Amino acid sequence: MRYADGAAPVRTTLDEPVATVAGRLAPKFEALGIRTAGDLLRYYPRRYADPSRLTDIAGLVVDEKASVVAEVRSASGVIRSPSSGKLRVEAQVTDGTSVLHLAFFAQRTSMAKGFEHQLRPGRRGLFTGKVGWFKGRAQLANPEMVWFDDDDPDAALDKAARPLPVYPASAALDSAKIASTVEVVLGPLRTGDVPDPVPADVRAARELGDLVDALRRVHRPQDERDWRVARHRLRYEEAFVLQAELARRRARAAGQPAVARPRVPGGLLDAFDERLPFTLTAGQREVGDQLADELAQPVPMQRLLQGEVGSGKTVVALRAMLQVVDAGGQAALLAPTEVLAAQHARSLRALLGDLAEGGLLGGADVGTQVCLLTGSVTGAARRQALLDAASGAAGIVVGTHALLEKTVQFAELGLVVVDEQHRFGVEQRDALRAKAAAQPHLLAMTATPIPRTVAMTVFGDLETSVLSELPAGRAGITSFVVPADRPAWMARTWGRVREEVARGGRAYVVCPRITGDDSDGADLLAQEAATLADAGEAPRRPPRAVLEVADELRAHPDLAGLEVGVLHGRMAPEDKDRALADFASGTVPVLVSTTVVEVGVDVPDATVMVILDADLFGVSQLHQLRGRVGRGTAPGVCLLVSGARPGSPADERLQHVAGTLDGFELAAFDLEQRREGDVLGASQSGGSSSLRLLRVTRDGELIEQARADARAVVEGDPELAAHPELAAAIEQLLAGDREEFLDRA
Ligand code: ADP
Ligand code: MG
Repeated sequence: MRYADGAAPVRTTLDEPVATVAGRLAPKFEALGIRTAGDLLRYYPRRYADPSRLTDIAGLVVDEKASVVAEVRSASGVIRSPSSGKLRVEAQVTDGTSVLHLAFFAQRTSMAKGFEHQLRPGRRGLFTGKVGWFKGRAQLANPEMVWFDDDDPDAALDKAARPLPVYPASAALDSAKIASTVEVVLGPLRTGDVPDPVPADVRAARELGDLVDALRRVHRPQDERDWRVARHRLRYEEAFVLQAELARRRARAAGQPAVARPRVPGGLLDAFDERLPFTLTAGQREVGDQLADELAQPVPMQRLLQGEVGSGKTVVALRAMLQVVDAGGQAALLAPTEVLAAQHARSLRALLGDLAEGGLLGGADVGTQVCLLTGSVTGAARRQALLDAASGAAGIVVGTHALLEKTVQFAELGLVVVDEQHRFGVEQRDALRAKAAAQPHLLAMTATPIPRTVAMTVFGDLETSVLSELPAGRAGITSFVVPADRPAWMARTWGRVREEVARGGRAYVVCPRITGDDSDGADLLAQEAATLADAGEAPRRPPRAVLEVADELRAHPDLAGLEVGVLHGRMAPEDKDRALADFASGTVPVLVSTTVVEVGVDVPDATVMVILDADLFGVSQLHQLRGRVGRGTAPGVCLLVSGARPGSPADERLQHVAGTLDGFELAAFDLEQRREGDVLGASQSGGSSSLRLLRVTRDGELIEQARADARAVVEGDPELAAHPELAAAIEQLLAGDREEFLDRA
């Protein structure tokens, strides 16, 4: 076995452990996630440093990296610093125009002796390093040296003129070491040695080069164009493999027969439509027809419904559920939190009226039941709910993750609705779908507007519909940024709360944390620290907390006589329910809460929302939050209280949120500001770890191409029998995914 340390390149198969090429350094590579020789090839440089300028000594510029070709004129022996005891060797080199000083520092005498030996007068070579200024003259400290007597001068000059790959390194392993180890694997590779997941015809059509060539160019480019071309090619490959997996999921689901649930005249749906107290918007009607058609097919529907908060998705979903119930099936509605699940159950029952009392005394002739299953439904209620789901008495079962448990069984699950889809992983969706005998239809919903390229990547296996118009009669929301350090503005803020309540409205006051002294805000604080560090801003006082703020407001003269309630994730479920009910009824018109009110909480009389420390929240989150107000006929107002310095990035973000209500525009803005990891959560990225170069925010066009190509390949060869390289790449992608999932658990 030969090692990277000065070894000649060895041929390795890509599956061989990294130890084969890295020897005793293997654990340091493994710490970077590099386990095999193949992993090493896929460990791409993060960036490329500019090639050094080959210059005359006379033309050196301090602080720039430079290379000079020169001859050693003289060198000192080993010098020991009297003060520090450190060893060094000094030398002068010349290129005929001027003299340049070199200094070499050494830990051990043997090392210093080595420098002394190399720096023999008359020897010519290439010296590369950053030009320093020391004792009034230019100097290179510990320059890289290539001697022309043992290396080809042209080759050495060539190398100095190339972009220098910079790898994501660790303290234990520097970029140069990674580069030389990669070289051991890369050196002997020939065209075709690395299996290419992109089929040859696709490559030809998209004018993508050979894979080994791309790997060579990305790891040791001759010039900038080289690595740019290579990155494009490798980026396409990432998009292609991901899209192929999504296309396969789609094809697989579509290939399994579903039970057709056509609309049954004279059933629940008709009865519901007759009682509907409002007219459906054009969008609701259109999407409704689309769903009705797809449910009537013997192929599983796989659709994502996007719609702003308040756009009326719930009604659309309920109508789809009723069509399925009419056709003899059950529907399950999966919500991300207990508050939301309970609220869904409540609002579905309210919308259905006596139609939700099927089989009960006083229920409508046609009718069904809505049952709720969450972690906090226990004892007799739980047993009843389980029974109703299993017997089919409940046509609609609403719940949280608790629905995924083994004990939950359905008589005839026909439709799965997932609310706030982005909070669930594909695994969870699939776990629920597996509870049906035949493949159930799937309707996923999200209120977070997702730009098309992200939707294609994250939900690439779903077709998308959008509800773009809000129901008529909505008065809209106005937003303002309020500087926290301006007492007059704050007084006006609480004054506004008082006025809104006097007019019959309700006020939310949202804080980042529950209490002032716990670790709840720890995540947020860490996030904030990172954001501030990015922005070069100093950290500041701790974020406001629910319990603290509630006490302050109870004592606040502007709010005298108003009941102030609290809502947060650590309350018992029945306390949460009570808090929300009291708020909805107006008994407690001011509710101080955490972001538990972020999604879906629906109190039509809520007209004002005050968000404290708004600068600590993300753009999409703020947009979601303010969607809680202005849901009725009275206009909503959102006050973004912020400690951000005017003109700072955080302030800009808030001004942007205040400036538009267009969720898609905000989502795009948000994406520009965030890093990829935040965009693709682990559970839905399809392996964000495998997306090394692809950026969904930037590579939309490329993703579209890859998606079209991948779909064509998968349609022609669903089992990928003729595309083993692609199948293997997908498998690797999924393995990476699982690993990441386990890491997080
Ligand atoms: P989403 O789930 O998209 O946030 P909901 O379905 O909860 O929105 O609808 C928000 C509110 O608007 C609910 O109170 C709902 O009853 C009402 N609503 C839905 N569709 C209409 C409509 N076409 N006209 C008037 N009100 C509607
Ligand atoms: Mg909703």
